[in-house]
Amino acid sequence: MSLQPARGTHDLIGEEFRRHRHVIDTARRIASLYGFEEWATPVFEDTRVFARSLGDTSDVVTKEMYTFEDRGGDSVTLRPENTAGVCRALVSNGLTQSNLPRKVFYAGPMFRYERPQKGRYRQFHQIGCEILGAAEPLSDAEAIACGWHILTELGIEDGTVLEINTLGDTESRDAYRAALVAYFASHAERLSADSRTRLEKNPLRILDSKDAGDRRLIEDAPTIHDHLTPAAADFYATVKRHLDRLGVPFRDNPRIVRGLDYYGHTAFEFVTDRLGAQGTVMAGGRYDGLVEEMGGPHTPSIGWASGVERLALLLEASGRTPAAPRPVALVPVGEAAEGPALDLLQSLRRAGVAAEIAYKGNLKKRMERANRIGARAAVILGESELAEGVAQLRDLDAGTQDRVALDALVQRLAGGAA
Ligand code: ATP
Ligand code: MG
Repeated sequence: MSLQPARGTHDLIGEEFRRHRHVIDTARRIASLYGFEEWATPVFEDTRVFARSLGDTSDVVTKEMYTFEDRGGDSVTLRPENTAGVCRALVSNGLTQSNLPRKVFYAGPMFRYERPQKGRYRQFHQIGCEILGAAEPLSDAEAIACGWHILTELGIEDGTVLEINTLGDTESRDAYRAALVAYFASHAERLSADSRTRLEKNPLRILDSKDAGDRRLIEDAPTIHDHLTPAAADFYATVKRHLDRLGVPFRDNPRIVRGLDYYGHTAFEFVTDRLGAQGTVMAGGRYDGLVEEMGGPHTPSIGWASGVERLALLLEASGRTPAAPRPVALVPVGEAAEGPALDLLQSLRRAGVAAEIAYKGNLKKRMERANRIGARAAVILGESELAEGVAQLRDLDAGTQDRVALDALVQRLAGGAA
């Protein structure tokens, strides 16, 4: 029996790993331009962290969590997302009163028991940004602008659009919820079983349903825009005005919800037409009550999360896979050349030049190896040349070769030239 990765998990190797890392490196760099500091919270948490934050009608909590009892009898859960962990960390570390707003970036693996398909896995990775302790529409716009900046910096924004909505304030939402319940209750027989449950517990969540029958009903459902208070409408208009000013294109989509009580005002998704069914690449919203749910004070917050695998698929589709690094291969000819080759090898690496040496083989074998690893140049060190203090430098793309003094090699190769 040969062992395979567990269903829904995958190994990141070669160009797949390079895309993955490029996504995270780019996001980290851009987020830091926006003033986000990076946090790393544990991969597993007390189950209550997620049960509280995600609500007991969400797909994640009802069907997708990896929850188990550890050997001490405590219920722990592999994190399905990171917002809850960040809010929990804000509270556990006593950071709720000082230095707000806090702008937090994170990147790491998440776990959901899902039906695996392209762009949907059981272990996947997210990057995300949270602004904790900011109630102003400018923070919504800035969080979103950072996400858009990351997409454009990656060069994958073609075919991707920001869809935005508001869930209003509590008063707007109460009025809207009543209208939704009236509408869906009058069509209850056409709702999926899951959505009938949501109708009682959390009717807004129905708008998030993926069931085809539900989707047809949702098309004609009332939208929140008829129920917004003037203050909520103004908040939404201000977010959009700031987005315009920050250069982020968007379109309204009144069907976007984040269906929990402590979600309000802004809700948004970046969706692409390039990934089939798994079209949401980034999603977020304002969650003014979540920190409270973790036992902290009222801390209005806004954030988003994005699936690294989906961004990496977009990189691949747009031909933007980062190139593999191209080292310089050192090729000693004869045993006596090996020592000087090692000296040069370390000098190159110390100077920041990727350099490699094959562990064995004659000139021909080592040159083959140099080509196989994609070396840009080979430094051939023959005994007679070494005696003269020179080496042959071969440009492996151009096929040209010239004699270079040993003490000039590092400088020449550090300049990128062969
Ligand atoms: P979906 O509707 O695709 O199930 P979601 O609403 O469950 O997404 P969020 O919880 O908002 O997703 O997570 C934010 C982002 O994380 C998604 O937009 C997506 O890019 C990514 N994501 C979520 N679940 C997975 C998964 N199982 N595999 C890969 N990426 C995922
Ligand atoms: Mg999901």
